[in-house]
Amino acid sequence: MRKKIVAGNWKMHTCIEEGVILAAEINSKVKKEVSNQETGIIIAPPFTHLSIIGQIVDNERICIAAQNCSSEPKGAFTGEVSAKMLKSFGVKAVILGHSERRAYYVETNEILLKKVNLVLENDLKPIFCCGEKLEERESKNHFNVVKSQIEQVLFNLDVENFSKCIIAYEPVWAIGTGVTASSEQAQEMHLFIRNLIVEKFGKEISENITILYGGSCKPSNSKELFSKPDVDGGLIGGASLDADDFIAIINSF
Ligand code: PEP
Repeated sequence: MRKKIVAGNWKMHTCIEEGVILAAEINSKVKKEVSNQETGIIIAPPFTHLSIIGQIVDNERICIAAQNCSSEPKGAFTGEVSAKMLKSFGVKAVILGHSERRAYYVETNEILLKKVNLVLENDLKPIFCCGEKLEERESKNHFNVVKSQIEQVLFNLDVENFSKCIIAYEPVWAIGTGVTASSEQAQEMHLFIRNLIVEKFGKEISENITILYGGSCKPSNSKELFSKPDVDGGLIGGASLDADDFIAIINSF
């Protein structure tokens, strides 16, 4: 049975004091207000906060993730943070291929494959983002775009490594825009992704992979989105910066 997960992507928000307060608030509300122990909870604060926040939250209940890592294992790469460094202070997962990184930092599928491999080599979980731009959906090319993002990166892995990945379908036109994919659009794409996995790795692997939806997911739409059979939770941007909203989304299953 695949895991239901809600993951918060804080992006480049909060200074350290604010981040510590937010993490402590989420931690205490998770304890008091989240009764379903089966739902996986992940928060991805900025790099600078990872160590301290890892010490604040209950690591049995809340996993700490990074928002990116270097495509190189180590060396003269000024300003970069390696997967091994992340592992060394308790990070458990890394968001890779977020559309903001693809767009502003020109992360190609080739670079992403290097990152995914390094993350896995360091025993971390990739949260691999894929999703089409508005014009790609309007030209009915959205399935092809998502297919090639997944094929060119994740389908290069062997089955053992592939089964450690979490996939996040995040239509670019829905991220940070307030426009959410309808639950039918999300379900349609999630099922499409699951069927791709059936073809490549077989039904059992496909049934066990968690596929998250991301893009303006909030308490007012999370229940409807998460009610769909192939939507296993969410990757949440804006709404993960408000502890009450984040908890309400976690409690939406
Ligand atoms: C994201 O950044 O992954 C995201 C889904 O953002 P938002 O929820 O703000 O649309």
